[in-house]
Amino acid sequence: MTSRPDARTQPPATRHLLSIARAPGASHTPGASRTPGASRGPGILTVPVWERFPWLVAGFSTRQGGRSAAYASSGPPEQNLGFTPDDDPATVALNRRRFITAISKQKPRTAPIPSLVTVRQCHTGILQRVDRSALPLATPEGKALLRGDALYTRDPNLLLGILTADCVPVLLADTRTHAVAAFHAGWRGTLARIVERGVGTLRRDFGSRPKDLIAAIGPAIGPCCFAVGEEVLHEFESQFAYAPSLFSEAFDSDPIREKYPMLFLTARAPGHSNLGPQIHLDLWEANRRQLLAAGLKASAITVIGECTACTRLPNGRRKYFSHRSEHGFTGRMLSVIGATAP
Ligand SMILES: [Zn+2]
Repeated sequence: MTSRPDARTQPPATRHLLSIARAPGASHTPGASRTPGASRGPGILTVPVWERFPWLVAGFSTRQGGRSAAYASSGPPEQNLGFTPDDDPATVALNRRRFITAISKQKPRTAPIPSLVTVRQCHTGILQRVDRSALPLATPEGKALLRGDALYTRDPNLLLGILTADCVPVLLADTRTHAVAAFHAGWRGTLARIVERGVGTLRRDFGSRPKDLIAAIGPAIGPCCFAVGEEVLHEFESQFAYAPSLFSEAFDSDPIREKYPMLFLTARAPGHSNLGPQIHLDLWEANRRQLLAAGLKASAITVIGECTACTRLPNGRRKYFSHRSEHGFTGRMLSVIGATAP
């Protein structure tokens, strides 16, 4: 990944959404946000309907409340939880400890603080089963050793973590066996059916029944902002009968691009579409459809429904890190799930 600090000064494109395809019954539930105030505690987004499971520790981080200065051009330090090239590893490690401690204290029975396990994410459909006997599964600095894009376990006191900055984090739990899983579902992982395969894997390894499973689709780039090239549409059409319902046409209006289109003709990254009407992909809905296809009840699926690229706090600051809208120069959010020991 190339850092482009200069890109931060580019004016953001104004986006006008013409239509968003939305399946009937799809509901978006904003998570319970604990945005830090004067204390600058770690920004955490929880799933309100999961409060009734005292054994379940889960949540999504926001950008606020950390100690990183790397991506905070002005204003308070931020909560970068990924070991990105521009940030100090010791600061990231501190941010992680503070976030995990805060999220563990949300439930009364979460002592001791669970161990975080992450993976070296590579946009695949690879799932990794982990258990306590294999710990630490990380370097002394906390960097992941395993490669893959999903983690699952039935061991308590392990916190499975996925890092994102636009891709979809999906958290899954079995309310009967207390097995848990965490997925990194960008468009490639979604195309590889990583979440749908994950449910099948829990059935195979732990005897999980879809009717006992609950899932949360976290903050990620939304259908408002995720313009993709036609090749992505074709790839999804070849894989999913319901693909047309995942795409919508939108028009990106960027005055500079419209005035000087030649400037941008050769600067288009793979996956980006042309000027004019664009194809937008709804990755939230794509992953919700996979969970339904795998047998989960619609009522068991929570879609946080906040876009990492365009959601702002009342003070105008970005609520999330966004790889797409910040041109690669950004931090990472961490999404975690784990079960406490009975
Ligand atoms: Zn958006």
